Amino acid sequence: MAPVQINEVKGNQRDNRTATHSHIKGLGLRSDGTAESNAAGFIGQAAAREAAGLVVDLVRTKKLAGRAVLLAGGPGTGKTALALAVSQELGNKVPFCPIVGSEIYSAEVKKTEALMENFRRAIGLRVRETKEVFEGEVTELTPEEAENPLGAYGRTISHLLITLKSAKGTKKLRLDPAIFEAIQKERVRVGDVIYIESNTGAVKRVGRSDAYATEFDLEAEEYVPVPKGEVHKKKEIVQDVTLHDLDSANSKPQGGQDVMSMMGQLMKPRKTEVTEKLRAEIDKVVSRYIDQGVAELVPGVLFIDEVHMLDLEAFSFLTRALESPLAPLVILASNRGMTPIHVHTSSALPGGEGTHPTPHGIPPDLLARLLIIPTHSYNPAEIASIVRTRAKTEGISIADAALDKVAGIGTKVSLRYALQLLAPAAVLARVKIGAPAGATKGQVSVEDVEECEDLFLDASRSAKGLGDGFLV
Ligand code: ATP
Repeated sequence: MAPVQINEVKGNQRDNRTATHSHIKGLGLRSDGTAESNAAGFIGQAAAREAAGLVVDLVRTKKLAGRAVLLAGGPGTGKTALALAVSQELGNKVPFCPIVGSEIYSAEVKKTEALMENFRRAIGLRVRETKEVFEGEVTELTPEEAENPLGAYGRTISHLLITLKSAKGTKKLRLDPAIFEAIQKERVRVGDVIYIESNTGAVKRVGRSDAYATEFDLEAEEYVPVPKGEVHKKKEIVQDVTLHDLDSANSKPQGGQDVMSMMGQLMKPRKTEVTEKLRAEIDKVVSRYIDQGVAELVPGVLFIDEVHMLDLEAFSFLTRALESPLAPLVILASNRGMTPIHVHTSSALPGGEGTHPTPHGIPPDLLARLLIIPTHSYNPAEIASIVRTRAKTEGISIADAALDKVAGIGTKVSLRYALQLLAPAAVLARVKIGAPAGATKGQVSVEDVEECEDLFLDASRSAKGLGDGFLV
């Protein structure tokens, strides 16, 4: 049989970049657009959240074309969190692509190419494909698995039987090993309803059936390969991909990462880099699907932090790209005031020479197109609240006094540094044997926090330690 391909839709592959913001679920605005003091994981920063809410409305009503947003504020004032929340408010499965200005410089990839790639990561495509699928309910696992249906998770399923329901009646199948593997990846268990694509053999777990039978005669079953080409049901399957997913899937179709069978089939197999030509071809196919009503564009958010690291060439690319009908919402962020526009040289010398300072190091023509939202630093109560939210989200049990201590560090040093202490402090608390009297085992104590503060320096203490010297 053909190799099994799982048509799994990859979310944002850079999920780790948003891990520290996992408590953020949206802007936390009331229906009149005003900010609740603590909602959707967002604490304080009310004016910026309300302004961001207006940006969401402008995007929805398509009134922001050719323009972008700049979040201007000190480090750790929630700029990334705001940009993420905007993408969440724009809808479920709206792509969010966060990058840092300096990231576009590399020896291998041209900076405009790197920017283009990230633009395409921020543009989603929702495709509704009608696929021919076999619908089946998992009715039996091995006797051991059947005894403990939950035990099927993560274990090899060697005797999977499914009942396929179709217009022609009901058919029981014993599936071949390649499909077991696919089913295993989908973590199927008794009672699950699965679909098996007739052409690729891809397996998708689509839910649980309410009533399922577990009784039928194991011995009487024949081994039947999944019949090919025999349609049991046409099923609409919605897939969310980004234009970048399509670019990379079609540039190396042999990689087994065809994100979408339909797209994969349309492009002739080749092994190539993602080129402008390939992108143009993909765009052509995409617009055909849009015209046919098969697909719809889901513009997302491209977030460029430390935008002052971009140079003139990158800015001019950005300004042009904003005008494209395919542009995502671009949110820039800066914690700089007046700064010369960055000059990037191939010798990787520090930039900045030769230009007059401009606000945030951004050229005036782009500045003129920006909606600027300021973010402000937090008061101690807000910092305490953010620290508490993060500790809860990370599943860290922390004593009240220790929480106050971390919040105090957040106020004195930086929110970012304080939040970074949480995870190592939790590790210390966990490994500690013979915790001090009164301490709850495994709970982060003031001592754990202090120990971490000594182990890990914040940037300013670290720099002071080295004086003005250079590390050679
Ligand atoms: P920088 O631009 O220097 O990278 P930033 O302004 O983007 O910093 P974030 O990274 O968004 O700051 O914030 C630091 C941490 O604090 C993150 O974990 C973020 O989710 C959290 N945070 C910041 N502001 C808030 C807020 N108002 N409510 C809840 N959490 C917040």
